[in-house]
This record gives sequence, structure tokens and C-alpha cells, in this order.
Amino acid sequence: MERSFKKEAEALKLGAGETFHGEGILAVTKALLQSGVSYVGGYQGAPVSHLLDVMVDAEDLLSELGVHVETCTNEASAAAMLAASINYPLRGAVTWKSVVGTNVAADALSNLASPGVTGGAMIIIGEDYGEGASIIQERSYAFAMKCSMWLLDPRPDLSVIVRTVEQGFALSEASNTPVMLELRIRACHVTGAFTASDNRRGVNSGQNPIAGPPARHEYIRLSHPPSTFIHEKQKVEQRLPAAQAFIRDNKLNEVFPGDLDDVGIIVLGGLYNGVMRALSRLGLADLYGNARIPLYVLNAAFPLVPEEVKAFCADKRAVLVVEEGHPEFVEQQVNTELRRADIQTRMRGKGCLPAAGEYTADVLIKGLAAFLGEARPLGLDADAIAAKAAPIVAHKTGALASLGDLPPRPPNFCTGCPERPVFAAIKLAQRELGPTHISADIGCHSFATLPPFSLGNSILGYGMSLASAAAVAPNFARRPIAVMGDGGFWHNGLLSGVASSLFNQGDGVLIVMQNGYTSATGQQYLPTSRTTRSGAPTGMTIEKTLRAFGVKWLRTVRSYSVATMAKTLKEAMRTAERGLKVIIADGECMLARQRRIRAEEAGKLARGERVVRTKYGVDDEICTGDHSCIRLSGCPSLSIKPSPDPLRTDPVATVVETCVGCGLCGEVAHAAVLCPSFYRADLVRNPGWWDRALHRLRGAVIGWLGGRPQAVAS
Ligand code: SF4
Ligand code: SF4
Repeated sequence: MERSFKKEAEALKLGAGETFHGEGILAVTKALLQSGVSYVGGYQGAPVSHLLDVMVDAEDLLSELGVHVETCTNEASAAAMLAASINYPLRGAVTWKSVVGTNVAADALSNLASPGVTGGAMIIIGEDYGEGASIIQERSYAFAMKCSMWLLDPRPDLSVIVRTVEQGFALSEASNTPVMLELRIRACHVTGAFTASDNRRGVNSGQNPIAGPPARHEYIRLSHPPSTFIHEKQKVEQRLPAAQAFIRDNKLNEVFPGDLDDVGIIVLGGLYNGVMRALSRLGLADLYGNARIPLYVLNAAFPLVPEEVKAFCADKRAVLVVEEGHPEFVEQQVNTELRRADIQTRMRGKGCLPAAGEYTADVLIKGLAAFLGEARPLGLDADAIAAKAAPIVAHKTGALASLGDLPPRPPNFCTGCPERPVFAAIKLAQRELGPTHISADIGCHSFATLPPFSLGNSILGYGMSLASAAAVAPNFARRPIAVMGDGGFWHNGLLSGVASSLFNQGDGVLIVMQNGYTSATGQQYLPTSRTTRSGAPTGMTIEKTLRAFGVKWLRTVRSYSVATMAKTLKEAMRTAERGLKVIIADGECMLARQRRIRAEEAGKLARGERVVRTKYGVDDEICTGDHSCIRLSGCPSLSIKPSPDPLRTDPVATVVETCVGCGLCGEVAHAAVLCPSFYRADLVRNPGWWDRALHRLRGAVIGWLGGRPQAVAS
């Protein structure tokens, strides 16, 4: 994994009264243990990858408590785990990135929410929304509403997060409904402290398994008609009122008073810190959480509690609802409740605030100033607030302008990534074949959609590239190429892509990037990693799996072998053989490899053993400065520098210190018949007698030829 949490996992052992310090995501894990969960699972994805990583690193502690940990192959299998809480009083939690993960899990979630649960069931969703998000900008709120599952959105304060997790399980049991706990990226990484409680064993767990027969067969526990008709009524008539009563009685939502009490703000818990920061910049709040405008904080974002909403709004002339994204679900519900009760408070939300996009500090400052300018609270000079807001917001624009035009810095493959050469090979093959449709996918390889490759016509979901080429192939003169990672292959691609293509006798080309991990999310293990998380061999290979499914045209090519990859691709595109053609591009994720070998090499050096590190370089006397190598590679370690030749003004290519010696430079130069500028140097540490002898011989020959010996051994 990208990061080890072994040290942090020690904090999970804290007992009652001790103070926990750390990140929000670790606090959630501690809260799960304090809640007596019997099982946890999930599928990695920002911003909650680390939740699963912490669970895996804390496996010893979890097994002491009898908590089962499952690293699921996708979000659907994680959601399906929660079935254990339908019949049994088992508390369980699963996690994934939303909204995409919730899309994948949607079927299981509907079938879980319909019969409801006996034991507390919690889905911890990492809401990846906003300026740094890597996915479609949609709200998970819609899923909670359509399934009648409750959505908790705690204020980003560790003690509130922990309390909301614990109360979330009780809410789930009190209303027989699964609960979603939404964590935005800032809530995951907010740091703070809270007073810990003792960890609890689940009612039943691996340490105390359910004895006796399984749950009595009850047809009503199945999401089958006619049970589903009864479930629908139960959701509205029993579970919803039970949830609202629990939220009200246990004060999950918070009201903070303020002296400007003819106006108010209703804010989703996760946005509270941003609102407080904006109020503080406008001089309407201090740094200790005291605001001049009353706030109603929805730590329970769905369902709303009508009595609370009405009580907060009734004596106010105007209220602002702060909810990020589109549509404005909370604003609509608040409006409905007020109209039903004939309360004439003026509601504002979208309009003062933008309908789409992240509510950053600047957006909130502008929105609050607009609201106050309209509402004109008694005792406040709203014009003075607007005058204060304008320079704060303008300051950033001015700062950006003073920097001038900065070069764009799109995300890119890591130095030495094994996926980069495959796209270099596609580009080379296309010189002969002409361009074809490329179905891209989710994963590191999607960086190829950006310069210098700019390859990829559609992305339809994780592991969906082959499926999304299914209707292109029969309507296109050239075979489409689908690109998928091994993570996507196991997540969805094997069934929705490969099985479907074979079943429908599709005729396309699939490239599977076999790098050994789900790399983009932090190098978690997958079914064809070299080992499982416990270190045992997985015993599965993509090759054997594809053969077993019936793939006949199958080649495995080392991903750095650009010429072989280009040749194989041309063969796949031109062969008269119909059917699915799969090329497995095999090369370990370089980031994971570097982390692995760094420790191995440090051990060897400490023992005085020989260690060789390969570096590539460009002979700047030969380089013509046409930069074809850069256009075909895009490696961040391949750069430019001024030409040493005063007669040539074009900068020459250069390989910088970060080169990991993957060999792509040499391969590309060879496969593209580029130029002979590249050289390879092996840096030998703790050289043996043979290295020394070879070095002396080379030095002598070079000296004899009139050059200067190049020291390569140390
Ligand atoms: S994490 Fe691994 S697979 Fe992803 S870009 Fe980096 S080296 Fe390539
Ligand atoms: S050999 Fe070339 S492509 Fe590979 S890491 Fe070094 S500079 Fe980058």
C-alpha cells in the first residue's frame, strides 16, 4: 500500500478517558470499534481509501475484537456484505468513494434498504465533490432520498464525527434502516482530538459466533414482491418517523445562537467549517465558533426533522440554506415544510450562492454578503459587510494576476510508469494503422487522455472500456481499442466487458494494464497481485482467467518493450481472425516498485552487497532538439536544457536526476528510430572485482582512443 498506518493504528487501542489525536479518517475507524462492529469492508477510492487501509493495517486488533475485514472487489460486493445486518443483530460498516461507488453499489443498496436491517448498518461514503475531485460531480444525497436511507453529514470536528458514527448505528437500529455517513475530503483529513471510549465487541462476532440455527426464514426480509409493497409503506409510515424522532431526541443536529436573530443559516454539517471561516473573514464570527448569525447545523442531512426546521425559521425574516451542488434538495424540503405550516420566512439558497461548484471560502464570502445585503438584519450595516467582502475576494484575483501566465500542469504518469510505454506504442502503431477509436477507462492510464498522448474517446466507468466499445466496433471500419487496468478488470471489466464481448462475438482489441495493484488509489492489492494482504500467493492470473473464459487470441507483452508492443498491436488490428483480442501489458507499478526496492536496496547496501541502479541520459552533442522523444514519452524526468552548442538555439533534451531507469527512453529511441542520443549508465555501488576490472579496461580503451575515462563505478 501507498502508506502504512501501522503506527497510527496503535491509537485505535486507546481506552476510556484517553485522548485520541489524529486525522478524521482514523477517528472514524476508532468510532467503529467503539460502536461494536462485527464486520467491516469496502472498496478503495479517494477520499476514503485510507479508511480501508487503516482497517487492513489494524487487522491484528480487529481480529482480537472478532471484527471481520473484507477487501471487496468492488462497491457492489461491499454493499452486499451489509446483508449480514438484515437478519442478525450484527453491526457492520462498509466504505467507498461516492458518487461513482454508490452507482456501482446501487442494486445491492436498493435491495438492502427495502427489507431494512436489524443490526446497525453504515456506509461511509467519501464524497468526492469540488475543485480537486476526480469524478463526475453529482450528489449522493439523491441515493439516500430514493432508497429512504438516512444520510449523516457530520460537522468536521473529531468529537462530532465520532459521536455521529456511534449515534448512526443506534439510528440505524432504531429505524431499521441503513445509514450513510458522508465524509468530504476535508473531513477525512481534518486533524484534532477527542476523548476515547473503550472498544466494544459486537453482540456476535468472530470471537463469539452465532450459535445454533440461522435466522428463521421470514419472507418479509426478502426484497421480493409482495414484501416490497409492504417495505415501501414501512419506509414512509414507520421507519421515517422513527428516524426523525431519534434525530430529534438525541440532538444529532445542532443549533448555535447569535445576536442577529432575525436571520439565520441552515448549513449541512460538512460545510460548517467553511461557513464559519467566511463569517469570521466578514467579522461576523470569532475563531472559537461563536457567530453573530444563528446557525442550524444538519449533521443529519436526510431526513430533515420538520419540527426543528420550523422552530428555527419561525421567528426569522430570512434564512439562507447552504448546500453544495445541484439540485438544492434541502432548500426544496425546507421550503415545503414552511409553506405547509404557512410560515412566511423568506428562504434563500441558490441565487445568493451558485447552483454548481464547490463552496470555497471565496464563494461563501460572496454568497453570505449577498444574502445579508438582501435580508438586511436589524443591527447590522449590510453595506459595510459587502464593502468588506469585495476586497477579500478581489485579493485572490489580484494575487493570481500578479503571477502572470503560469504553464499548465496537467496530471501525468509517474516517472518510469509501465503504462506510459504502452501509449507510446499505440502512437507508433497508429502511424501505420491510422487513428482508431479508443475506449478509455478509470485508472492511472486515463492520464493518456491528456497531452502528450491525447488518446481516448470516452470514459464510461471503472472497468467499462470494453463494454463501451461494443457498439462502436460494428459501426466503425477499424477495430476499436479498449484500455483497462487490472483494477478495472476485476472491478467490472471481466464480466461487463470480456464475458459480454465473447457472448456477443465482438471483434475488438483490449489492452489490460497489468501493474499488480489498484495503483491510482494507493497501491492496494487485487486478486492478481503477487500476494494477498497476508502475504500468501493469490493463485489467480488474468491470463488463466481469460483462457478459461474462452479468449483465444491472447498475448502477454512486457509493457516497456515498445517495439514488441507496437508490433503486437498491429497484429491484433490487422489479423483476419475475428473475436476478442487481448494484449496483457505486464509491468509492475513503478511507484510501488520503487517503494519496494528502496527498502531492499538499503538492506543490501548496509550488508555491503552490490547494488546496481540504471540511469538514462542524453548526449547533448548529438541531440538535435526536435524533442520527438518527449512527445512520445511525456516522462517528467525527461526535460529540456539550453544547447551547449552556440550555433544551435533550440534547447536539447535532458534526463534529470529523478530518472528511475525504466528503459523507455532507450526503447522509444529504438522503436521510433528516433536518434542515437540516448545512453544508459549503470551506477554500481559496492562493486565487485569484475566491475572494477571492467571499469579499468573500459577506461584504458577510452583513453587509448583519445577520450577521457567516464567513471561509472564507485
Ligand atoms: S501509480 Fe503506478 S501505475 Fe499509476 S502512474 Fe504511477 S507508476 Fe504508473
Ligand atoms: S528512462 Fe526515460 S522514461 Fe524511464 S524514467 Fe528515465 S527519463 Fe523517464
